[in-house]
Amino acid sequence: MKIENVNLINLLEHAHIGVVIHSWDSQIVYVNPAAMKLFKTSLERLQNRHLVEDGWELVDRQNRRLHPDEYPVNKVTSLNVSITDEIIGLVNEDSGEICWLSVSAYPEKSEGAGFVVVYFTEITEKIAAFSFLDIVQSAQDMIIVTEAKSIEGPLSPKIIYVNDAICKLTGYSREELIGETPRIFQGTLTDKESTSRIHCALAENKPITETLLNYTKTGTPYWVEMSIFPLKNQLDEVTHFASVERDVSAVKFHAEQLNNRNFELKSIRENLEDLVNQRTRELRNVNVKLEKLAYFDPLTDIPNRRAFEEALDKSTHFAHRHGYSLLIGIADVDHFKKLNDTFGHAFGDDVLVAVAKSMKQFFRQEDGIGRVGGEEFAFCMVLPGSHEAIDILERLRKRVELISSSLPALKGYDVTISIGAYYVSGVNPSETKEMVSIADEALYRAKREGRNRVSLVMKDKTESNLVN
Ligand code: GH3
Ligand code: MG
Ligand code: MG
Repeated sequence: MKIENVNLINLLEHAHIGVVIHSWDSQIVYVNPAAMKLFKTSLERLQNRHLVEDGWELVDRQNRRLHPDEYPVNKVTSLNVSITDEIIGLVNEDSGEICWLSVSAYPEKSEGAGFVVVYFTEITEKIAAFSFLDIVQSAQDMIIVTEAKSIEGPLSPKIIYVNDAICKLTGYSREELIGETPRIFQGTLTDKESTSRIHCALAENKPITETLLNYTKTGTPYWVEMSIFPLKNQLDEVTHFASVERDVSAVKFHAEQLNNRNFELKSIRENLEDLVNQRTRELRNVNVKLEKLAYFDPLTDIPNRRAFEEALDKSTHFAHRHGYSLLIGIADVDHFKKLNDTFGHAFGDDVLVAVAKSMKQFFRQEDGIGRVGGEEFAFCMVLPGSHEAIDILERLRKRVELISSSLPALKGYDVTISIGAYYVSGVNPSETKEMVSIADEALYRAKREGRNRVSLVMKDKTESNLVN
């Protein structure tokens, strides 16, 4: 068969490339079906028209609108040259969509008539579609692909792909890494347990995530968080493993810093706790001292007036509640001024301490005592019956008298006390002041009557009957 016998128009009708033939004045004279499909138009619409009139607009790769002089057909007619594989965008003015074409055109002159043949293929998808390889290649995360064939052996699993991020961080070139095993990144401090966990997961074709210490080509360690997963072919066979890795050195470093900081804070807190405990102890001691100061007489170390009044109040309530009697008394050292004058104030103090001591020994824990004046001591006690009161007071007087013999410096000078006391049955807790003044009056009576004696007032308020 001779080529002349081939119906070329028929060929164009069936071709997959678009063909548009223009007359020399650039009017369209032929459009093949592939081109019509592309332009979504018909021959009737296009015939004897310019392409630009059909609602299309041409742009270059920079989306710059082409001047009609730049149209392939016009370039060919004005310059009488061919153009090859020019990328031109056809903008649909209705939708704004761009159809990208690789356009070639050449002048066709035959028998005096001139034509321009324009042919093109659509490359929109090629231009628009992004490449997954580009993503992987340029990702900030590191990506390694190894073969899954055999993970045992000194050079297995074999690295078949690394992206730029790997080379950037590790300092190895792609050529150095391809054919190697990922163990190239491991070193002395790489955790063996982590690597064996990875090994086990890969042996079972399971995905795994681990954080591992790796080393750069120059031996600088870095922490990497890796997520390894199997890749399958279309027959569902695991052919490769991909590992997406991230440098987490900074995170690890901060975590370590945080740990250290926490440790420091912990020890600061412990020190602080110690300090607080110590201060609490000191404070408690100070409080005890303060309480002593508030309630104890510093010279004699027995309760002071304030403490005695509280004790009296408690005893009064107790006696009232239980129907007991109450004995309250005031003991005053006789001629103490003279004692001071004779032996000196300091010795007078010693005597006061001795009196206080004998009182403390004399009374029971539940009784109340206190130094209520210079050489005046008060006491109170709850008693179930009346008959004891005078005996108690006399015993107290005699007991104090005994201190004279324990202080040889007195040289025969007798330390005596006078006691004024009030014994009351049916006590009323609101009458403590009155009770004290009754005891006080009794004391004056004892002094008046010659000192070194007891004066007792007894009252049975249950019957409102003065006994003595
Ligand atoms: P009376 O028998 O009437 O109680 O005579 P007195 O001398 O004991 O009583 P007066 O009230 O005249 O004197 C009390 C003296 O006690 C006066 C004061 O200097 C002395 N005095 C008060 N407090 C203290 C003290 O804490 N230490 C010493 N050494 N003497 C004190
Ligand atoms: Mg006095
Ligand atoms: Mg006195």
